[in-house]
Amino acid sequence: MIVANWKMNGSKEEVDSWLRFVSSNLSPNIDNLCIFCPPSCYLDYSSSLIKEISSPVQLGSQNINFSGNSALTGGISSQMLKDLSAEHVLIGHSEQRQYFNEDNDSLKSKITDALTKDISPIFCIGEPQEIKTDNRTKDYLCRQLEILESFDSNLITIAYEPIWAIGSGENADNSYIEEVHSHIKEFCCRELNFKEKVSVVYGGSVKLENCEEILSSSEVDGLLIGGASLDPDTFSKIYNLS
Ligand code: PEP
Repeated sequence: MIVANWKMNGSKEEVDSWLRFVSSNLSPNIDNLCIFCPPSCYLDYSSSLIKEISSPVQLGSQNINFSGNSALTGGISSQMLKDLSAEHVLIGHSEQRQYFNEDNDSLKSKITDALTKDISPIFCIGEPQEIKTDNRTKDYLCRQLEILESFDSNLITIAYEPIWAIGSGENADNSYIEEVHSHIKEFCCRELNFKEKVSVVYGGSVKLENCEEILSSSEVDGLLIGGASLDPDTFSKIYNLS
């Protein structure tokens, strides 16, 4: 799975040219999904264009709000995402956790809600710099993972995104990624009783220059890409190398 997270970037024109370029330059592989998460206001346009040009790209939302809270100005429910043909949703991105004070309870409600509409959650976890410095990364991630206990491992993808690596230009090095991904998988099997090994993708300053090395580890099941996904040529090349 290779995911483009545009965050709050782009315009309708850029969405149009990106989707057309990526769709015709991708060597699609059904075992390796290509997912586009544009800003919410472009989901409708993206969904129509994906159908019109029979694009192999699948649509993801950058956020979802808990449907139980209908008095939420600006909110987007799972039904709304379903209507927009979104098949995936990012949940727990560190920026959402930080700016909207998302806690474990609200994240669990979001995952439950997405799954009731067959929208696949990409659950983002990751530690801040001070936790890494204190050597407490593994415990910190376990606390974030605990909310997945009652869910089916086949339906959820985990995105490991060390916060210090997001947008910083400094990706985590390979041995660190490998160690953390393997810890996440082990924890999910051992403590959460996941029947299948969960997929774990890496995010944090992925670029064309480092993508092959990061993907060379058998513990890395894909990539979540912010900045480098904005350029359709770079993103297509990363996908084709994966
Ligand atoms: C992200 O937005 O989740 C991300 C990983 O960003 P970047 O690739 O720019 O670090």
